[in-house]
Amino acid sequence: TTSVVLFTRDLRLHDHPPLRAALNGSDAVVPLFVRDRAVDTAGFAAPNRLALLSDCLRDLDAGLRERGGRLIVRSGDLVAQVCAVAAEAEADEVHVAADVSGHAHRREEALRSALEARGRRLHVHDAVTTVLAPGAVTPASSDHFAVFTPYFRRWAECSVRDALAAPRKVRVPDGLRSEPLPAREDLAGLSPGLARGGEREARKRVSAWLRGGVTGYADRHDDLAGDATSRLSPHLHFGALSPVELVHRARRGGGPGAEAFVRQLAWRDFHAQVLSARPRSSAADYRTRRDRWRTGAAAEADVAAWKDGRTGYPIVDAAMRQLRHEGWMHNRGRLLVASFLTKTLYVDWRIGARHFLDLLADGDVANNQMNWQWTAGTGTDTRPHRVLNPTTQARRFDPDGVYVRRWVPELAGLQGRSVHEPWRLPEAERSAYGAYPDPIVGLAEGLDRFKRARGRD
Ligand code: FAD
Repeated sequence: TTSVVLFTRDLRLHDHPPLRAALNGSDAVVPLFVRDRAVDTAGFAAPNRLALLSDCLRDLDAGLRERGGRLIVRSGDLVAQVCAVAAEAEADEVHVAADVSGHAHRREEALRSALEARGRRLHVHDAVTTVLAPGAVTPASSDHFAVFTPYFRRWAECSVRDALAAPRKVRVPDGLRSEPLPAREDLAGLSPGLARGGEREARKRVSAWLRGGVTGYADRHDDLAGDATSRLSPHLHFGALSPVELVHRARRGGGPGAEAFVRQLAWRDFHAQVLSARPRSSAADYRTRRDRWRTGAAAEADVAAWKDGRTGYPIVDAAMRQLRHEGWMHNRGRLLVASFLTKTLYVDWRIGARHFLDLLADGDVANNQMNWQWTAGTGTDTRPHRVLNPTTQARRFDPDGVYVRRWVPELAGLQGRSVHEPWRLPEAERSAYGAYPDPIVGLAEGLDRFKRARGRD
């Protein structure tokens, strides 16, 4: 017998339940990746993520070849392609990981019906792209937790399934056509500092992180200049790493750093369960606040300055430039630039979320859209009126100004924390930094506008 294993956002060989189930139940398997046309046409094929995807697919193919197999790649309509490959390989079963977005749910149902109509079965495996399945932890009165703390209390008590070893041997039937693997080199518009992807790269990074960085994580995760977070998010996004395996490995190490790190992985599960229960919240407000976001020429000019890292607030600009350069941004940076856009500038969170999705290597429907809403106060945050003051944040999380000087070279000559408020310099000194703009809005003015707007709430 033969089974198809459809890889989606689980591009790895270690701890892969669909692959394990297929290998246990069949003589041969077809490891298949379909470049889903619907994902591309919905605007999710941003160059940085395509580059990471290419790294992941190449690495997966290399890993399969070491084990006697290979990856079959197709593109087009996912359902039609899977059915075609299953027919070519005379496979009885298709195994796939469960996913959480509305598109993923609809696609899974369409695939199930199409396969069943042809006498084949679809097996959907939970806890592959998340630690716990989205519905594993629910409150008594609802289908999902809307607030993180009670969710996490229950999440932390659940047992996590064991991680599976990578297979030793994978037998793939001969004669199946595969499209050439996409190459990173063929892509235009990549961030110059974009990191490499793929399972091997990801596993190296995890080992280094668990040996060193994680120890100080509880105290240093907000230190912008220290860059002391794991940077595993792009690897988790494409499933080059198993979140289940990561939780086990981190917990084995123990200590407050490991616990704080595991708690962040629970945030990832939290957003996945919210999106799974409310698929529409990826495009609409999770909670309506009757916002009438700013529009028009002045708002557009503000958005352009925000995207370009030229708002005149050095900490905001540093973070936006890091995003453009690396296709990644520190979490503290994401929080403060999102607060700046949605509260200080009072611009619709969807505009910011779209820009992030255009650039982030880890850009992800659940984590991006739900975090944006959390920050905008239209999501699951319990303090929707909180506004992060960029200058206070800068003094707290970049006390010596190292992060700002790293990303805003115009201000590199300013010492210490004075870099956070260049507008306070005497006129004569300010002109030395002429290339750097004045603030596009006063903080008090922005706060006032936001309060008046939300006052209608
Ligand atoms: P670490 O601090 O090392 O954390 C470990 C892992 O935990 C991360 O890799 C990530 O998988 C998970 N994690 C940490 N914080 C969060 C969080 N708040 N929500 C969900 N998961 C979390 N993360 C994405 O993966 N994709 C996105 O598109 C995304 N968009 C965001 C947009 C905004 C406005 C904000 C405020 C946050 C966003 N995040 C997103 C969450 C977070 O910023 C990143 O996961 C984190 O910065 C990645 O860096 P790291 O791997 O070094 O994180």
